[in-house]
Amino acid sequence: MKNIVLFGPPGAGKGTQADFLKDLYNLVHISTGDVFRFNIKNKTDLGILAKKYMDEGNLVPDEVTINMLKAEIAKNKDANGFIFDGFPRTQSQAEALDNYLTEKGEQINGMVALEVPEDVLVTRLLERGKTSGRTDDTDETKIRNRFNEYNTKTAVLKDYFEAQNKYYGINGVGSVAEITQRISNVFDTL
Ligand code: AMP
Repeated sequence: MKNIVLFGPPGAGKGTQADFLKDLYNLVHISTGDVFRFNIKNKTDLGILAKKYMDEGNLVPDEVTINMLKAEIAKNKDANGFIFDGFPRTQSQAEALDNYLTEKGEQINGMVALEVPEDVLVTRLLERGKTSGRTDDTDETKIRNRFNEYNTKTAVLKDYFEAQNKYYGINGVGSVAEITQRISNVFDTL
């Protein structure tokens, strides 16, 4: 299996790139943000709980998120591999994912990180907010809080994967096609 963590701050382009890469490499794309939004739309208990956090730009608690992620993996028993988008976002999520894959005789092959300066990200998110219908994309205070969550809880995962020689940084500024090509150059080696 090829299991890749597509990493980067909010607005880095993870979802856009994962959409192309899942077809190119025949992988299952799991976006925890998309799963939460699906649950919110369908007013499930999980959605009602997650909404409180997401609306403020805060992370949803680890235990809830980890259980949901495991259920998504378990739904795809025949997968050739996974692209994880928006997960892991904390050290304990990363450890839980490692442990879960190890139990299955699998592993993360690499963390591919889209590196984009913060001012470019804010512009992209506000632009996306005009059409995405996402309340967390329209309010600059919430956007700033999402960066704060990223910088204080998520960015450390670079070190976590670097320590395992699995971190691959990519320049995330350019056209969508250029960035897909840069990521593919790394995917092909994993
Ligand atoms: P995203 O679509 O990845 O930008 O995620 C949108 C929101 O969903 C985040 O701001 C969090 O509130 C929540 N979320 C998504 N993935 C996670 C995760 N792995 N851990 C905690 N919260 C998450």
